[in-house]
Amino acid sequence: MEKIHVLGTGNAMVTQCFNTCYLLEMEQGNLLVDCGGGNGILRQLKAAGFDPASVHHIFLTHEHCDHLTGIVWMVRAVATAMNKGKYQGELHIYCHSGLEPMVRTICGFMLQKKMTAHFDERILFHVVEDGQREEICGHTFTFFDIRSTKAPQFAFLAGLECGRLAFMGDEPVNPACEEYAKGAQWLLSEAFCLDEEAEKFKPYEKHHSTAADAAKLAQRLGAKNLVLWHTEESDLAHRKARYTAEAARYFEGGIYVPDDLDVIELK
Ligand SMILES: [Zn+2]
Repeated sequence: MEKIHVLGTGNAMVTQCFNTCYLLEMEQGNLLVDCGGGNGILRQLKAAGFDPASVHHIFLTHEHCDHLTGIVWMVRAVATAMNKGKYQGELHIYCHSGLEPMVRTICGFMLQKKMTAHFDERILFHVVEDGQREEICGHTFTFFDIRSTKAPQFAFLAGLECGRLAFMGDEPVNPACEEYAKGAQWLLSEAFCLDEEAEKFKPYEKHHSTAADAAKLAQRLGAKNLVLWHTEESDLAHRKARYTAEAARYFEGGIYVPDDLDVIELK
């Protein structure tokens, strides 16, 4: 069965959980979506039971440090495995055109040449344009520009065995992108905080939503299941219960507010 291995669930500045990123497990392989803010990506992958050398596809949404910086450690881990003869085939990195030179530059500054030497040989960049389709692990992924005004950011719609999975990035869904999420079996959305705590956390100043906002959208677009993450971390022990309760007031489908390292079975 297809699964989401949740590696992190927090926003950029969290310290009690990891930044939001996940491994999408499919029958023919997996796709790592964002890399978190650092070396914690290796810890989280290990805790989830995955060797970095088992990752052959990575999608990077945007340049913010909580999503991008872990790519340095992923490239290091994969290139090291390649140098030891312990990596099969290639690593494919999917990102928008502005992100590719950034990944090359930060890896170029921080990693040894014997690692970045694999760029364009066995570590391959795939620059995606708005609306571009790519076959990954036997499934069609349609990448799209979420129209962020903060920094260019891409997300995707994937046609999986379980149905359509719409991953909408870490900002509220722009009306121009709603089409991708309509009727999705799985809608993966950010929710910075609870609506009842919006005064405290000020999600709108940061271009983020509340659990209620995401739930209303999911209901309006006819999604079947909603995943909420990229949250604040003031009450992680009760986050699942509190966010689920708020979302359930507006959305009739399945609601998932995962903790780090939860596994979501995609049915
Ligand atoms: Zn973020």
